[in-house]
Parts: sequence; C-alpha cells; structure tokens
Amino acid sequence: SCKQFPTGPIDTTSCDFETVESVNDALYTHLHDLVQTPFFKYFRVDLYRDCPFWQEHGLCMNRECGITTVDEKEIPEIWRAAALSKVEIPHKDQLHHLPGCYYRDSDFCFLDDMSEGDYVDLTLNPERFTGYTGPSAHRVWSSIYEENCFGVSHFDTLGAFTEEEEAKTCLEQRVYYKIISGLHTSISTHICYDNFNQSTGEWGPNLQCFIDRVASHPERLEYMYFNTVLLLRAVARIGPYLSAYDYCGGTGNHETDPYTLGELNSVINIAQNVGKFDEKTLFRGPNAEILKEEFKQHFRNVSRIMDCVGCDKCRLWGKVQTSGVGTALKILFELDEKALDPKLNHNLLSRSEVVALINTLHRFTESLHAVNEFRDMWQREETAQ
Ligand code: FAD
Repeated sequence: SCKQFPTGPIDTTSCDFETVESVNDALYTHLHDLVQTPFFKYFRVDLYRDCPFWQEHGLCMNRECGITTVDEKEIPEIWRAAALSKVEIPHKDQLHHLPGCYYRDSDFCFLDDMSEGDYVDLTLNPERFTGYTGPSAHRVWSSIYEENCFGVSHFDTLGAFTEEEEAKTCLEQRVYYKIISGLHTSISTHICYDNFNQSTGEWGPNLQCFIDRVASHPERLEYMYFNTVLLLRAVARIGPYLSAYDYCGGTGNHETDPYTLGELNSVINIAQNVGKFDEKTLFRGPNAEILKEEFKQHFRNVSRIMDCVGCDKCRLWGKVQTSGVGTALKILFELDEKALDPKLNHNLLSRSEVVALINTLHRFTESLHAVNEFRDMWQREETAQ
C-alpha cells in the first residue's frame, strides 16, 4: 500500500491530495526560480549559539556538515540596515529577550538577534545528506517529539493517530504533531533524494532510504502535504502584503524587481486556489487562549532546540524551516485582516521572516517533487524485475 499515491481529502484541510499534486510542478518551478533571486537567497542566521537545553552536543566533522558564509559587503546595504532597524527589533514592552535571541508575544519562534550572525547564500548550501546521525541527532528529534508534543508521542510507533489517541487529543495538538512530523518527513526526503552512496562515491536518489524513512509510513507522507497546504494558506493570506514588499533592496538594480515580483505573484495565485486550510477552526473552545499560548510556547522551544543540532548545515535549514513554519503560524493565528493590510502595517514582517516563509514552502514543494521521482524509480525497478 505504501506504493500508492495518497488520494482524497487531506485531513483537517478542505483540500485533497490530487489538487496539490496537480499544481505542484508549477509551484515548484516558480519557487525554485524565486529562491535564486538576491532577495530570497541571502539569509542572516546565528549558527553558533549555545544549546540552551543540555550541555554538550556532538559536532559533525563531515565535510558536508559545513556551510559557506557570504561576506557582509555583498549584501545590499538596505537589507543589512533593515536587519538592525526597528523592523527587526520590536518595542521593549513586547520583547522577551534571551542571550542572542528574542520573541514578541505574537511570535511562534525565537528570532535571532540581528546584531549577531552571518549571511548565508542558501543556494550554495543545499539541504541534503550530510552524514549527521547517531545520539546527537536522535536526542534533538526525541526532545522535539517527547517534550514538545503535548504528550502526543508517536516516537517509534507506526501508523497514523489511533482512535484512542484521537479521543485523547484535541485538534490543535494533532495539528501541532502533524506540523512537526511533516517537517521531519520533508528533511528525510531531502536526505534520501540527494544522498551519498558510500560504496560508489556518487550522489543521487536512494530509493531504499525513502522507502524506509517515508513511504513505509504513509501518514508521514500525508503530513508533508498537510504542511504544504498550511504554508500555502499563509502565503495566500499574506499575498497582498508580499506583493507590496520592496524586493529591490535599494540596489538600483530594478531588473530583478519585476522578475521577483512576477514569480512571487504566480506563487500567490496558486496559493489562493489551493491553500484551503481554515485557521478559524482552531483555538475556538473555552480554553482557546491558554491552548494557543501553550502551542506557541512549544513551537518556540522547538525553534530553540535548533541550537542543539550538531551539524551546521542541518542547523541552518532547521532554523530556516522552523522560522518559516513559525511565520506561517503567526500569519494564520495572530494577524487579523487589518494587520495584514500593507498600507496600514508595512513593517509587519521582517525580511528574514519573508525569506524563511518562501524558502520553507520551496523545501516542501521540492520534497513533493522528489516523491514523484521516487515513485517513478520504484515503478521502473518493478518493471525491470
Ligand atoms: P531519524 O530521522 O533520526 O528519526 C528518529 C526516529 O524518529 C525514528 O527512529 C522514528 O521512530 C521517528 N521518526 C522518523 N521520521 C519521523 C516522522 N516523519 N514522523 C514521526 N516520527 C518519525 N541529516 C542530514 O543528512 N542532512 C540534513 O540536512 C539534516 N538535517 C537535520 C535537521 C534537524 C533539525 C535534525 C534534528 C537532524 C537533521 N539531520 C540531517 C539528521 C537526520 O534527520 C536523521 O536524524 C539522521 O539521518 C538519522 O536518521 P534515522 O534513520 O536514525 O532516523
């Protein structure tokens, strides 16, 4: 059964798997072009903060774990200045500061203090197999699942939510779990798709890796679609704001601006048709505010756990993606229509939040694209037998 495409409605959305499949090629192509543009490829990140939860963490010495940083001078000054301006550093009353990072009440993740950190060209540091594994990687995943999943632990169990688990958990808890598990699935898909074969010394897709980690757990695959729809809904909601954003970066290079905007508008257009997730169904009951606060606190913890990932490249993408998902959650659950109006609130999102959101959506569409390639490989292998 794990060879089948998932079909029918995607749980907790008004979208189905077939619809996502039908747009994913176009979506992936536009996003793939978009993330190569100067605005979207440079990301500022502090990769060298201490792990706040435990003392030591393994350091990955593999060459593939390393990243290349960019000399700050290559970054348009306006983006550097913006990183230090009030856009990034909110008003003191709303600011919860910890060494090297902070969050505002509305944030679902800790954000890096923009006075620290390096610029990274994300296109030069693709997410793929690095060889990071063992107790350090497992400790990070297990603390994400076991400590931050409201007690919903699927760790080392197979299958989707059982009836008993459904009865014991609320919708918000299940959504939370799907987000985390879907993110884990997407990371695993990238590892298997851009995999290093130690016996041949070659890079390429590793079908068995994909079968073991993803395809033999159909619910994991489903959660990846779920995450894609959730991110698309966030992009659809923030669409007018994104269309009004300045992508030129004050470089005077206006040629990049219409191109970036054109690609982005194509993505927003698809998002408006496919991002059918109704955020209003969550956080409605009598304990809604408490539950939302708990949800935020857990997700913020996950963003901090990224400082415990013992491989620079994995940490980079872990930070980009938790920040991207956190931005989507903020757009869905914290901002009303008035706040989303670009004329009234042109400083709503920082540049790094916009970059993280789009790059995270790109990661998920790339994973779905890889899933199709794996299905073709599987088919070819079966035919050949
Ligand atoms: P793991 O992926 O470590 O999973 C541990 C356990 O979690 C499994 O035994 C299983 O019971 C459960 N599990 C697995 N997948 C799911 C799921 N989708 N939903 C629910 N439960 C699940 N390695 C790289 O090579 N490149 C990277 O870019 C990279 N990025 C990483 C980013 C982060 C934030 C972390 C924590 C690790 C990263 N790693 C990366 C390491 C990688 O994720 C694995 O930990 C490693 O490859 C070992 O894999 P594993 O098969 O032992 O299982």
